[in-house]
Amino acid sequence: MKPSPFDYHCAKSVEDAIAALAAHGDGAMLLAGGQSLVPMMNLGLVTPEVLIDITRLSDLAYVRLDEDVLRIGALATHNTVMRAEDSARACPLLVSAYDNVAHHTIRNRGTLGGNVCHADPASEMPLVLTLLDATMVIHGVDGGRIVAAGDFFVDAFETAIATGEMLTEIRVPAQAAGEGYAFEEMSQRKGDFAIVSAGCRLSIEGGRMTNVRFGLTGAGAQNRRMTVLETMLEGAVWEARLLSDAVEVAVVNADPSDDIHADVAYKLDLVRAMSRRVLAAAVEMAVK
Ligand SMILES: Cc1cc2nc3c(=O)[nH]c(=O)nc-3n(C[C@H](O)[C@H](O)[C@H](O)COP(=O)(O)OP(=O)(O)OC[C@H]3O[C@@H](n4cnc5c(N)ncnc54)[C@H](O)[C@@H]3O)c2cc1C
Repeated sequence: MKPSPFDYHCAKSVEDAIAALAAHGDGAMLLAGGQSLVPMMNLGLVTPEVLIDITRLSDLAYVRLDEDVLRIGALATHNTVMRAEDSARACPLLVSAYDNVAHHTIRNRGTLGGNVCHADPASEMPLVLTLLDATMVIHGVDGGRIVAAGDFFVDAFETAIATGEMLTEIRVPAQAAGEGYAFEEMSQRKGDFAIVSAGCRLSIEGGRMTNVRFGLTGAGAQNRRMTVLETMLEGAVWEARLLSDAVEVAVVNADPSDDIHADVAYKLDLVRAMSRRVLAAAVEMAVK
């Protein structure tokens, strides 16, 4: 299918893009890598009146470690982020999860900014950025604001970005030295969206777990951090029995639905297996 007709504006700067967004209101959409937007336009799922092309805003394509914060410009491609030495140094969970995101050619065009603004509930990065306590920098004509990842992802395909605003930067605090982390997913083919994925990070201090973060995709309408499991593990002394209890908490609190890829029973089996793997791997890494 072909997209419905639209006007095209090639943004010369962030200010120009924001001015164009303000001028065209709800009828405008930003074009970043086009890896989600263009298929949706071709399928008639979105019909922007004006497409504001931000692909030439190379000033927003950076990845750099600034003291203890990894700063990722909204136009940095997936491949740029996953290959940056600063990403590996500061946020190894992010890099390890990237092994599951799409295919090389899609990662070459697709941006992390576009990925999080698209907010697909099956997408890995919204979950990972939430587990890493990332924040999102958003700009509009009235200036900028910073939103925690946990508040940025409002619902499936819905973010905190308002009409007239754009994402400019993602800030990810560096992981603590010695922290354990793991990410696992099951998809039909490598590079496809996950049926279920699980991510975890934690530290062990004086034998007790601390700073525990755990979450799933494919186990509810939105990818999500499972705070009930985190609270259960926070401060607890690690022992084998705790792993089984934690996995059951993950299963009881998961709420997947049937779809064309898998039924609920199979997804709950995946939740059980993925949760066990990431928790065990993160603990093993943290105790070393
Ligand atoms: C075959 C295939 C497989 C894929 N597999 C995966 C996968 O396994 N995991 C995964 O996570 N993703 C996957 N993707 C999606 C891919 O990650 C996309 O690159 C990403 O979702 C969108 O990034 P983009 O730069 O292409 O954004 P675009 O498609 O250009 O834009 C996406 C949306 O974000 C908005 N937007 C873009 N930039 C901004 C901004 N700075 N501020 C505000 N709004 C903005 C756009 O208006 C649009 O609504 C896959 C895509 C394909 C085609």
